[in-house]
Amino acid sequence: MATATPGEDFRMEVRDWLDTTPRPEGLHDYGPTPTPDDITAGRAWQGLLAEAGYACLHWPKNRGGREASVADQAAFAEECALAGVPRQFHLVGPDLAGPVLMAHGSAQQCDALLEPIRTGEHLWCQLFSEPGAGSDLASVRTRALASDSGWVVDGQKVWTSGAADAQYGLLLARTGGPGHAGLSAFVVPMDTDGITVRPLQQMNGESKFNEVFLDNVLLPHDSLIGAEGEGWAVATATLGRERLSLGSNAVGMLTALQEIVTAARARGRLDDHVRGEVVNAWLGVWLLRSTWERAIAEGTPPGGPAFSVLKLISTRTYQAIGDLGMEALGLDALTSETVEPLVDRMLVAHAQTILGGTTEIQRNILGERILGLPREPKP
Ligand SMILES: Cc1cc2nc3c(=O)[nH]c(=O)nc-3n(C[C@H](O)[C@H](O)[C@H](O)COP(=O)(O)OP(=O)(O)OC[C@H]3O[C@@H](n4cnc5c(N)ncnc54)[C@H](O)[C@@H]3O)c2cc1C
Repeated sequence: MATATPGEDFRMEVRDWLDTTPRPEGLHDYGPTPTPDDITAGRAWQGLLAEAGYACLHWPKNRGGREASVADQAAFAEECALAGVPRQFHLVGPDLAGPVLMAHGSAQQCDALLEPIRTGEHLWCQLFSEPGAGSDLASVRTRALASDSGWVVDGQKVWTSGAADAQYGLLLARTGGPGHAGLSAFVVPMDTDGITVRPLQQMNGESKFNEVFLDNVLLPHDSLIGAEGEGWAVATATLGRERLSLGSNAVGMLTALQEIVTAARARGRLDDHVRGEVVNAWLGVWLLRSTWERAIAEGTPPGGPAFSVLKLISTRTYQAIGDLGMEALGLDALTSETVEPLVDRMLVAHAQTILGGTTEIQRNILGERILGLPREPKP
């Protein structure tokens, strides 16, 4: 898989470290959010990454980061995928809360909260989406009212990955009138009175998501991040960061294609149709990887439209491979006593259309910013 990607020297250094570093027991590549069963191994892994200088690569050096280029970050993500380990304990702390605190938070917030993110002591969750506010985040209804004793928060969040295990949440709440300008961002210790976390079970049996109810939750005055009304800037500050590692999905996809061929052959199902679909999916994987490499070589920022193209290619290919796994397994997909890894992959693939910005929203971005089509009417 190695090519002459920018970041090649760093890639070799990382590969060497990954080859020689003992892994915490039970560690596996669980994706951006650990399940409750992955917390211990994931946290220990983050500790090792921090010790070796591979945690929070994009953070400034004075906060323990490496100020790594996009190319180095991408190379690191791919090497971790090849080694079958997560690139970090979880996504929200290092990629979202940390950068947001550095850009908008106070010196006290940064001093208290950044280092435990880097070392893995604290897990964070992102309290943005609500039952009526997902793609249209400006419709957030959770309210934070200023009082003499602090901010009093009431509302409900949903799809909050990792909330059941998180020590802190990054909250988007309404402190003013409707629209963007009425939103503010807060640091929320998840053990504050009035917070109820209710896990949601996904169709593959895991419970990474949660509903979070905030009922008369009192937050100290200094939990506000930046100024009142700066919530929209906070919400959009790190837009697209998770897309930086999209190309590393190619590693898992190629492994899945090998498993599909093996499963289909074992069942006498490797017919011309399945062979043709394997080739189509394989082309999709390489299109994903080459487009990722090009975006990185050209220095495209993670929030740029090129990453919307990548998100679309990744989603389409991920889901095609999920469906192909079902063709390879045939009836075994339904009758097997355990959940086959290929079945799990197909179930998880469905979320790709929604997470990190839905397919329709990516198409809107490309239509408006690349093709110059008229802007979507605002209702
Ligand atoms: C795996 C996963 C993890 C997640 N983790 C978190 C998390 O940790 N924290 C958090 O806050 N949220 C999280 N989310 C929520 C995620 O951000 C939202 O699901 C997403 O923003 C979509 O919002 P929604 O579900 O409310 O759907 P909606 O925004 O209601 O969309 C419903 C449908 O309408 C379409 N649509 C919406 N607006 C438009 C438009 N303008 N033009 C065309 N079509 C449109 C959408 O594409 C979609 O098909 C997660 C979601 C997933 C799947």
